[in-house]
Amino acid sequence: CGIIGVLSDHSAAPLLVEALRRLEYRGYDSAGIATVHEGVLDRRRAVGKLGALADLLVDDPIKGKAGIGHTRWATHGAVTTPNAHPHVAGPVAVVHNGIIENFQELRKEINDRGVELQTETDTETVAQLCALYMADGMGPEEAAAATLKKLTGAFALCFLFDGEEDLLIAARQGPPLAIGYGDGEMFVGSDAVALGPLTRRIAYLESGDHAVVTRAEARIFDAEGKRVEREIRTVSLDN
Ligand code: GLU
Repeated sequence: CGIIGVLSDHSAAPLLVEALRRLEYRGYDSAGIATVHEGVLDRRRAVGKLGALADLLVDDPIKGKAGIGHTRWATHGAVTTPNAHPHVAGPVAVVHNGIIENFQELRKEINDRGVELQTETDTETVAQLCALYMADGMGPEEAAAATLKKLTGAFALCFLFDGEEDLLIAARQGPPLAIGYGDGEMFVGSDAVALGPLTRRIAYLESGDHAVVTRAEARIFDAEGKRVEREIRTVSLDN
């Protein structure tokens, strides 16, 4: 129900958990984060309150300055740790708000390629499709764009990739998603509240947009794949 992504100068895990706390007001049943550290994707997930995830991270911390986080409000698949986000398939980790309406169709397509899905969620199909495209030889950017073209429904998504410590791909079709511009850092978040302590300089994606985000820039594309600019506003959190 809430999404956060960071390309930071600092350890990502505490920033992710703090941002998820600021998204708690939306309600959730489980939470998780993934980071890339020394090129390797890792994740921690827990059912219940954010405290459960925070405790897990104390016992079993994860390093890395690039990461994504999620609070889940289950729509497809029971409230279990394997169904919690981020979902990982091969080199791809994904967090998702909303519903992938054609997920049954996509599950069949994935099964037909000889891959068994690991969870009951609609979201896993996004990670699996993107991983299949990468196995076909596409780079992360191309694979994510090809994946987005296949999805119907309402979603906000953020992708993180194994081996990529300076890349997030964010996409919006329906639920809000914002890019936060820091000083040599970049962020993705469901709203300005989540991004509050990180940056006040925010550009909301429009529905149909996706953004290729690095620490240096965010390249935003509309539904037709045309490069577009979205206005960066300085928000105040008083309202
Ligand atoms: N449909 C996804 C799920 O059930 C995402 C739900 C959400 O927005 O948190 O896992």
